[in-house]
Amino acid sequence: MEECKRCLLNEAAEADTLKSIRERIERLPDGEKADEETYLRRLDECKNCDSLIAGVCMKCGCYVEFRAAFIRQKCPDTKNRRW
Ligand code: SF4
Repeated sequence: MEECKRCLLNEAAEADTLKSIRERIERLPDGEKADEETYLRRLDECKNCDSLIAGVCMKCGCYVEFRAAFIRQKCPDTKNRRW
């Protein structure tokens, strides 16, 4: 896969991975899921972050489209937390 700096999965042509993540997010209980506005705001922050490579945060190794879906999760960059 070509490295795609500051790309989310939905821009990095990782369709199967993204589909799997979306299915897992849909199964999250409401109390654990970030609301849509929060989710999209978080992803916007990731898209402006140098630590995002092809949908993966280099600070934690997570797919940001998954991590951002959890209301209690935080951006893992403790020196410059964006969300
Ligand atoms: S460091 Fe934070 S803002 Fe940057 S990609 Fe990771 S989760 Fe997103």
